[in-house]
Amino acid sequence: MCRSGRMVTFTPSHLRTRIDMHAEVIAIGDELTSGQRLDTNSQWLSERLGELGIRVLYHTTVGDDMEANVRVFREAFDRADLVVCTGGLGPTADDLTRQALAEATGRSLFLDEASLAHIRQLFARRSREMPERNVIQAKFPEGSQPIPNPHGSAPGIDIQVDRDGRTPSRLFALPGVPAEMREMWEGTVSPVLAKLTSGRRVIRHRRIKCFGVGESDLEQMLPDLIERGRHPSVGITVHKATITLRVTAQAASEQGCLAAMEPTIETIRSCLGELVFGEEDDELQHAIVRLLRDRQERLTTIEWGPAGLLAQWLGEADPDGAVFAGGSVVRDAVSLAATLDESAGSLGLDDWGAVVSAMAQAIQKRYRSEHALSVGPFPSSDAIGTPGGQLHFALAGPADTVAKSVPFSGHPDILRERAVKQALNLLRLALLG
Ligand code: ATP
Ligand code: MG
Repeated sequence: MCRSGRMVTFTPSHLRTRIDMHAEVIAIGDELTSGQRLDTNSQWLSERLGELGIRVLYHTTVGDDMEANVRVFREAFDRADLVVCTGGLGPTADDLTRQALAEATGRSLFLDEASLAHIRQLFARRSREMPERNVIQAKFPEGSQPIPNPHGSAPGIDIQVDRDGRTPSRLFALPGVPAEMREMWEGTVSPVLAKLTSGRRVIRHRRIKCFGVGESDLEQMLPDLIERGRHPSVGITVHKATITLRVTAQAASEQGCLAAMEPTIETIRSCLGELVFGEEDDELQHAIVRLLRDRQERLTTIEWGPAGLLAQWLGEADPDGAVFAGGSVVRDAVSLAATLDESAGSLGLDDWGAVVSAMAQAIQKRYRSEHALSVGPFPSSDAIGTPGGQLHFALAGPADTVAKSVPFSGHPDILRERAVKQALNLLRLALLG
């Protein structure tokens, strides 16, 4: 039960699904292990596998090293029923995937004439002679199947490996180039897996976004939802003071998942009320743009800092400018005084509530907007963490102006984002009444 007294329903354990096919995703390349490029392929593939109801248990990243690749493949065949790897299928000396797969499975490479013809034709279309090196891309471990790559020279590899007393392990090797990888997944791998998993349940997620309390306070408001083994499951993550509740359901179909999640989402919304500002990729600024659009009202901003984070976020959330009418950035007391039409000496910097209120009112008047948000100066990075540091912000609305001060807390790197979110939330709550 949540604080408002709603009952929470549980699915008995015998009705919960067991997902019995475990997958491993392998990303191959020195550019990944050296940190020069982020492995986004594994993220994308894991989401797709999850949608098919296949649980990914391992992510492995390995550099361009023959021995390490062979070892990684052997381990994956042993511990995963399904393996999807990306990278290392190119023609250059550092591309080792096909050779490592041949060695890991103890098979030799054969030349697939159809693949060779496809590669030759790709070069011919660009009026180029195929370099001898590219022949390697038409070679496959015995017993494996090529996976067509319509727009690239590296076909993928579909290979199955027998395991003593267990079902075989199946591996799909795809190129590292994300666009080719995705096209081949959609064209070949996903249909094969959909067949293998037909009748099995799919997994879907929904994300509910909240702001305004700490994560443990929020959890207290939903005591029965975050329990292990519950279906749909509910998890909490925090990113820069925004809390995301991730609801996950399994069912025979996408519709079944969504229907199973609905009562849980209802419970979350009724327990948390105004703490919930949106869903999925929503941020506070999107919620504000929606609210102001409905009311046909406009917002302006003024920030004292190195750059206009508030203005940037609002501008991105309102690309056609229907709601966000403009923002100013001042870097010091002198430029603020000029904005306020005062002399810097008369600013009275000991009363920050009055300063941020004057900032908001000045910008509201200048741009003739119904609402204006101001954010006061940030402390220098060495002052952050010293006790007593406060951030000040204000909201000038159609009727009155409210100023607020909050203590600085948390890591300095996320301070500006947190502060701007607090200012946005002040406006959001005012608009909700
Ligand atoms: P190619 O035929 O292009 O050589 P390949 O299979 O050998 O294909 P790689 O050489 O490993 O692939 O990588 C090709 C490109 O794809 C590079 O720009 C690489 O940075 C990018 N890439 C490789 N792996 C990943 C990954 N896991 N996530 C995101 N990008 C990746
Ligand atoms: Mg390559």
